[in-house]
Amino acid sequence: MASKVALAGSTGSIGNQAIDVVHGAPDRFEVVALAAGSDVSRLAAQARDLRPSLVVIGDASLAGELAEQVPRGTEVMSGTEGLEALARSADVVLNAIVGFAGLPVTLAALVAGRRLALANKESLIAAAPLVSSVRNAAGGEIVPVDSEHCAIHQCLRACRESEVARLVITASGGPFRELSQDELAHVGLGDALAHPTWDMGPKITVDSSTLMNKGLEVIEAHELFGLPYDRIEVVVHPQSIVHSMVEMTDGSTIAQLSRPDMRLPIGYALGYPERLCSSYGALDWSTALSLDFEPPDRERFACLRLAEEAGRAGGSAPAWLSAANEEAVAAFLSARIPWSAISQVVAAALEDWDQAVISSVGDVVEADRRARESARRTAMRLEHAA
Ligand code: NAD
Ligand code: MG
Repeated sequence: MASKVALAGSTGSIGNQAIDVVHGAPDRFEVVALAAGSDVSRLAAQARDLRPSLVVIGDASLAGELAEQVPRGTEVMSGTEGLEALARSADVVLNAIVGFAGLPVTLAALVAGRRLALANKESLIAAAPLVSSVRNAAGGEIVPVDSEHCAIHQCLRACRESEVARLVITASGGPFRELSQDELAHVGLGDALAHPTWDMGPKITVDSSTLMNKGLEVIEAHELFGLPYDRIEVVVHPQSIVHSMVEMTDGSTIAQLSRPDMRLPIGYALGYPERLCSSYGALDWSTALSLDFEPPDRERFACLRLAEEAGRAGGSAPAWLSAANEEAVAAFLSARIPWSAISQVVAAALEDWDQAVISSVGDVVEADRRARESARRTAMRLEHAA
């Protein structure tokens, strides 16, 4: 029987690729709900194609416009209430919303005991203490979509927990891997948006250029797999073929390899525990292939170090890190601050961090708000100083 699937963030990079996966396995999946932030025309076109019973638009002021464009009988909802209804409506919930806005989907899906196919790392990072308390609801489960964590999830199927020594997360290194500190001071928006191996939404593309994405992924791995930070390593691997690795206590390392194609981890998470028959990203061994590895540089890419520090500090520090980064990236994307200021904004926010703990959704929202306030202040100061 086909499983009922909800796609949150359906109009984005991951969302569109998920629809491609669903079209490739029509007997496996039935889309029952879709959600997007504000792209009414694309969301409506997806609803006409997939015929879900529910569509959700983040921006409530657009709900009327959306209702006019979806097939008759489709329920239209908006905002947090809509996202929570989406999360309850399906067996498998893909959270491919970008940023903190994805929090209601993560929490509501797990509380309702659904399988959460998680691309939205920001919600897990900001609300880790809450996620870990709702994660064990009957039926509730997280299957990672992020390619590195999906790789580790696959490697872990080959061993017992007691056999795991370290997780090794690979990083492409982004477009600026080979630039000096001086050259990094002059990179522009177009340079940051030109990722060498992955075609992704703008926020994560910038995060990949600063290595903040890798830092967020270290925290994500700590939360998903429960290993302490000193057993989570990062290695730069420019070809993005080895998606991550697990080292065993006897020195053996197991890796997952494929061409960089997000449809593979998306299909893995939607179909888990069974694999799909549609193949994405299989390697071609008839041509030469070289794989390189090098340690990351935490001086030139301070965001990686800041994220690792925030992860180790725990409490609301990861929430502050992620929120400040969202603000810094937004300021960079609108050309208000240079690329090199992103890490400065995040570092200043972590200086302002008030060491609070997180024990309710209100605490997460408050941490997010205060971190953004701090980040906006620093961004404005740097903007005027430039
Ligand atoms: P994107 O910018 O292409 O798409 C974001 C989606 O979120 C859009 O559909 C947008 O409408 C929706 N959205 C934004 N605000 C919303 C709101 N308030 N309510 C409902 N929907 C809202 O981003 P993306 O590249 O697809 O990334 C999505 C998530 O997946 C991010 O957390 C990213 O870190 C993660 N991820 C992406 C990739 C990738 O290859 N793109 C890989 C790994 C992880
Ligand atoms: Mg990733």
